[in-house]
Amino acid sequence: MKRFDVIVVGGGVAAGAVAGTLREELGSDRSIAVICGEPHVPYTRPGLTKQILRGERPETRALAHPPEWYPRHDVTVLTGETVVDVDRLGRTVRLAGRSLAYDTLVLATGAEPRRIPGPPQIDDRMHVIRSFEDAAEVREHLGTGIRWGVVGGGFIGAEFAASARMRGDDVVLAFPEETTMERALGPVAGSWVARRLAARGVDIRSGAGVTELAADGGRPVLLLDDGSREVVDRVIVGIGVTPQTGLAAQCRLDLAEGGVATDASFRTSDPHIFAIGDIAAWASPLHGGRRVRVEHVDTARAHGEHVARVIEGPDPGPFRELPYFFSGLGDWAFIEHVSVGSGGEGVRREGLDDDALSVAQIDDSGALVAMTAVGAPDDLDAARRILTGDPRPVMNRDRLATSSVPLDEAVSQHTTPTGG
Ligand code: NAP
Repeated sequence: MKRFDVIVVGGGVAAGAVAGTLREELGSDRSIAVICGEPHVPYTRPGLTKQILRGERPETRALAHPPEWYPRHDVTVLTGETVVDVDRLGRTVRLAGRSLAYDTLVLATGAEPRRIPGPPQIDDRMHVIRSFEDAAEVREHLGTGIRWGVVGGGFIGAEFAASARMRGDDVVLAFPEETTMERALGPVAGSWVARRLAARGVDIRSGAGVTELAADGGRPVLLLDDGSREVVDRVIVGIGVTPQTGLAAQCRLDLAEGGVATDASFRTSDPHIFAIGDIAAWASPLHGGRRVRVEHVDTARAHGEHVARVIEGPDPGPFRELPYFFSGLGDWAFIEHVSVGSGGEGVRREGLDDDALSVAQIDDSGALVAMTAVGAPDDLDAARRILTGDPRPVMNRDRLATSSVPLDEAVSQHTTPTGG
């Protein structure tokens, strides 16, 4: 049986980062295999609702490394192959027809889009966006003047709606919350996004989840839970994802927060197995030791880089990278967000241009927990410093509400420990 020092299971950015960091940054000579279920070498997914979807950027730009990188760096990459089980005792993974042995296994199995039930006659008009193939199918119809029904007001929903409007299609966007991206950004920044989408012609239906689809003469119908119905031409379902923890569950690793429980260095309950990316529920020092799961590309990449350093040594210590994400709405808003938590009160920093936004999220004690910024790079930089500081300072709410006061100078004297 062939044996590798490191086997990585996954085809996303986290998997690509493990191999890339081991070979390029650390000069590791360990034997490495990357096993990707999709018929592609590892790739990143943000472009799938934006530039790649709109045909502005080729898929090759989304690859973590080009296909020829793997043989050139003596990394075995298996595409279109699925690991069906893990034997922890024998330290082997089983694929269709063969097994491979590992010393260290890294699970980076990502997540699967949730779907909504609908009648079979509209199957080919219902789309999720998670893979190159999904985006290619949607691209065929983008800009053809049709009416899209978008279910879910999160990242996929908002980004797709903006792309479709850029291409001149009609969009109705339905979601259960009061405003778009509410879960990720909070209501203040979320409503700014909703207003921007509406101003660009998106028909926003807030407070209206969709639990089922129907058909009307072959066209899909959104059955909104406010009682209304919307006949559309095609449907994009963006109602969140389910972390793919099947392998971890099969080999009885501890699970938590919908993912795989790990320590602050992504080691699972088996010291020979790491879990990273969307599936990792790691004990985060930045979050007071709480287990967190983050579904964003920069965090997943950072997980992969960190695990490579843990594997190669010397031990880099716990993972302390501040969760960051961006979201691009068409060519008219680039939203950035850093956080160590969510909830609390969103304080909009007044006085910026109409096209810019800065919202500071503070908890009950007045400590900063998150910052959303559009065209406000100084606030974002200051928020990074504040959120990674220990202790984290308590903010002065009045000063915080004025963008003319630099964020660093909007702190009061009291401090709050991060616990990390
Ligand atoms: P998401 O951002 O988690 O948003 C899902 C949205 O769907 C939420 O607003 C959710 O509301 C809503 N929803 C749930 N059930 C619904 C229903 N029956 N009817 C209508 N709305 C419903 O997930 P996503 O947009 O599907 O994105 C999928 C994944 O890709 C996520 O992991 C996301 O982080 C990632 N992604 C990230 C980016 C980025 O970082 N820029 C871009 C694209 C995708 P509740 O909150 O009330 O459940």
